[in-house]
Amino acid sequence: MADRARMSLDCIIVGGGIIGCTAAFYLARAGRRVALVERGRLAEGTTGNSFAWANASTKTTDDAYHRLNAAGTMGYIALARELGAEALGISATGALQVVSRADGPGFRAMQDDFAALGQFGYDCEWLGPAALRAEAPGLTWSADAEALLLPRDMVIDAPRFTAAMARQARALGAEVLQNCAALALIADDDGRVEGVEIASGRLLAPQVILATGADTGQVLADLTGFAGFAARFPLRQVPGLLMTTPPLKGHPVNRVIYGSTTDELHLLPAPNGGIRIGSDDVDGVIWEDRGKAAMRRGGQALLRRAARVVPGLESTVSVEACRLQVGVRPYPEDGRSIIGPLPGAEGLWIVVTHSGITLAPAIAARLVTLLDREEVPDPGHYALERFAGF
Ligand SMILES: Cc1cc2nc3c(=O)[nH]c(=O)nc-3n(C[C@H](O)[C@H](O)[C@H](O)COP(=O)(O)OP(=O)(O)OC[C@H]3O[C@@H](n4cnc5c(N)ncnc54)[C@H](O)[C@@H]3O)c2cc1C
Repeated sequence: MADRARMSLDCIIVGGGIIGCTAAFYLARAGRRVALVERGRLAEGTTGNSFAWANASTKTTDDAYHRLNAAGTMGYIALARELGAEALGISATGALQVVSRADGPGFRAMQDDFAALGQFGYDCEWLGPAALRAEAPGLTWSADAEALLLPRDMVIDAPRFTAAMARQARALGAEVLQNCAALALIADDDGRVEGVEIASGRLLAPQVILATGADTGQVLADLTGFAGFAARFPLRQVPGLLMTTPPLKGHPVNRVIYGSTTDELHLLPAPNGGIRIGSDDVDGVIWEDRGKAAMRRGGQALLRRAARVVPGLESTVSVEACRLQVGVRPYPEDGRSIIGPLPGAEGLWIVVTHSGITLAPAIAARLVTLLDREEVPDPGHYALERFAGF
C-alpha cells in the first residue's frame, strides 16, 4: 500500500467500535474522505460486550452531560427514520425505573430524578403501584413499588448497529479496514500529526481520531512512544459482567428495567430473544478473577437477582445455558466524556467515553463540527485540558 494512494484522505479513525464506526459514517456523510482501521474485528471491544441501553434518564446531575446523552437518543431516532430501526438494531422499548417506598434513599433518589428529568424536558411519567402493574404485567413487584416510565430510552443491538454504520460509511466511499492495527503515529518535525503506520504501509491524512476505548492510554503510549501516557491518561478501566439467557418465548421483560442503587439490577429484552442481566453490585465478583468458577458464581448471582423480578426464571434457565460476557468500561476519571484534541499534537483527536452506546450519534455529530472548526473545543467540559498534566 503506497503512501501516495492514501494522500487524498481527510481523516483517519483508529478503532472500529461504536464510536469509531458511527464517526466514520457521519464524517463520510459530511463529505470527508475517511479511512478507519480496526486491529481486530469491528465491535469486538467494549461495544460487543455492553449492556447497550441508550438513555439520558440516568444522567441527572450534570446539565450539559444530560443534554449530550439526550442528543444521543435523538440521534438514534433520526437514524431509525433515515435507515430503518430494524436494519440498525434499534428497539424503542422505553425503560422503567422501579423502586419500593421501603427503600428510603432509593425512593428519594427516584423523586430527585423525576424532578431533574422534568426540568430537562426528558419524557418521564411517574407510575404508582397500580399503574406499574398495568404497565409491566408478568413481573414481580413489592406492593409498595413505584416507577418512572421513560419512553425515550431504548435498546441498541450494538454489534449490529456498529456493522451497519461501517456499511453505510463504506457506501459513501470510506475505507474500513479490519485486522489492521495502527502501529505508530506519523508526525512532522513540529509534532503535527500527519497519519498512521499500519503493517502494509502508511495512511496519511491531516486529522487522526483515536477511538480506541478502554485501552486508550496504552494505545497512546504505543503510538507515540511516550510510555508515560499508559499510566497518566485519566481513564479507569471498570470491568462489568453481563449475562444473556437463551431465547425465552413470550418472556415479560419488554422494556429496560432498572432498580434502586441500593438493590442494583438491570434487565432488558436482548436482541437474541432472551433477557440480558447486569448488576453493578455483582461486577465485583469478576474484578480480580475471571476463571470459570468466578464467572459461574457471578452468573448465579445475576440469575438469582433477576428471578426476584422475573418469576420462575431460575427454574427455567441454568447459568450454563446463558452467555456470560465481561466488558471493560472506559471510564474517564470525572465520569464525563473526553472529546477533543490532544494538547500539543495538532491534528490528533481523542474520543473516549463511558455510555458510548448512548452517545455515539451525538459524539459523531460533534466531531463533524469540531473537525470543521465550526465549534471550538470546550476546555471546561469535554477537553483533555480539564485533567491535571494535560
Ligand atoms: C458491562 C458494560 C455495560 C455497559 N452498558 C452501557 C449502557 O447500557 N449504555 C451505554 O451507553 N454504554 C454502556 N457501556 C459503555 C459502552 O459500551 C462503551 O462506552 C462503548 O462501547 C465504547 O465504545 P468505543 O467504540 O469507544 O470502544 P470499543 O468498543 O472498545 O472500541 C475500540 C476499538 O479500538 C480498537 N483498537 C484499539 N487499539 C487499536 C489500534 N492500535 N489500531 C486499531 N484498532 C485499535 C479495539 O480493537 C476496539 O475494537 C457499558 C460497558 C460495559 C463494559
